[in-house]
Amino acid sequence: MSILKIVNCLDPVLRKACKEIENIDGELSTLSQDMIETMYAAPGAGLAANQVGVSSQIIVVDRGIGTEKKDPITIINPKITAMEEEQIGEEGCLSIPDIFAEIKRANRVEMKGVDLDGNDVRLESEGYLARALQHEMDHLEGILFWDKLSQVKRGILKRRFKKRLKEMKGDSK
Ligand code: ZN
Repeated sequence: MSILKIVNCLDPVLRKACKEIENIDGELSTLSQDMIETMYAAPGAGLAANQVGVSSQIIVVDRGIGTEKKDPITIINPKITAMEEEQIGEEGCLSIPDIFAEIKRANRVEMKGVDLDGNDVRLESEGYLARALQHEMDHLEGILFWDKLSQVKRGILKRRFKKRLKEMKGDSK
């Protein structure tokens, strides 16, 4: 397994809708393992393939989110099939480091997709996990969490991110 490079929000791959996966093969299984390792190393609770530069519909999330237990799951060609209730909470993104904002999401979500063996998966979630699933699903459609905010708020966060990026580059000199 290896840790992959996570692209930041300025990379155009994050703005393109990801392609549906037709063949589940060894390469995909390796990608999934690397994505899980990359997610935990970041550390984060979810990762979409385009965040590591692969424009395919596969996500990994930690079902143990909010607990001590690691419980990763891989979902291929995911779809959100039901949404209920509302939650507002702080959200961040591994592709937009150090930037957080309050985002409104559904509180309960049902997701369907396929696992690495090609079997149907149905996942019921609420709270943090539901938030993570919606966030990763958005990535596959080329959407970033700050797209949910007003233009003014998004502009402030973008400027903050670019400033932070400059500082980070400065740090590594
Ligand atoms: Zn993200």
